[in-house]
Amino acid sequence: MNDLPKHQGLRNRLVQILKDKGIKDTKVLDAIGSIPRHLFLDSSFLDFAYQNKAFPIGANQTISHPYTVAFQSELLQVKPKDKILEIGTGSGYQTAVLIALKAEVYSIERQKELHVKAKKELPKLGYLAKKLIYGDGYIGLKEQAPFDGILVTAGAPFVPKTLLAQLKIGGRLVIPVGNEKQIMTLFIRKSNNEFEKHEFDEFSFVPFLENTAK
Ligand code: SAH
Repeated sequence: MNDLPKHQGLRNRLVQILKDKGIKDTKVLDAIGSIPRHLFLDSSFLDFAYQNKAFPIGANQTISHPYTVAFQSELLQVKPKDKILEIGTGSGYQTAVLIALKAEVYSIERQKELHVKAKKELPKLGYLAKKLIYGDGYIGLKEQAPFDGILVTAGAPFVPKTLLAQLKIGGRLVIPVGNEKQIMTLFIRKSNNEFEKHEFDEFSFVPFLENTAK
């Protein structure tokens, strides 16, 4: 499967939709405009890859809506060389966006099947993460902490203290918080024990579950 001019046309249209919905960060828009999202989906969904929709990626999980990916990436304010921890590798699409933003990306996935697939496919497409990890995102990645940014791509019933503790001072945790629906939430670490909290719109994610899947 290739990336064809028709796909670029569809991506340009998607970028316009994201702009119309309020995404302003040109680096995020450029990343979404350049990444072949159709190559992260199963072939049965190819025709829909550039609609602002979520789709199944296997193991009962979904690839996030492009708008959700753009919104979370914008909140994270990634700078080149930033050390970023993503929780929920899933299809690897959000991982690719972070890599296109020139971050050093560590990404954890609890579903073995998805982890294995992303590990195989991302490098083929030219997206090199620092490390893709099969494990439980609730414990973060202590050996690589602290991070400039941590991005949780699953709906969290509560905010894990471990993740807050793995942020640099000035670092940002973007996490959708809630059970049925989630409030997009940003924490900025101000000092060792002070965090600024900002709440945004409501989103809908698959759940952030503890432990690796059996
Ligand atoms: N970023 C992904 C979104 C996938 S959906 C993409 O763009 O495709 C969220 C993912 O989070 C799912 O793959 C799910 O298996 C994973 N997940 C849920 N709980 C987790 C945990 N405790 N640790 C790691 N990954 C988790």
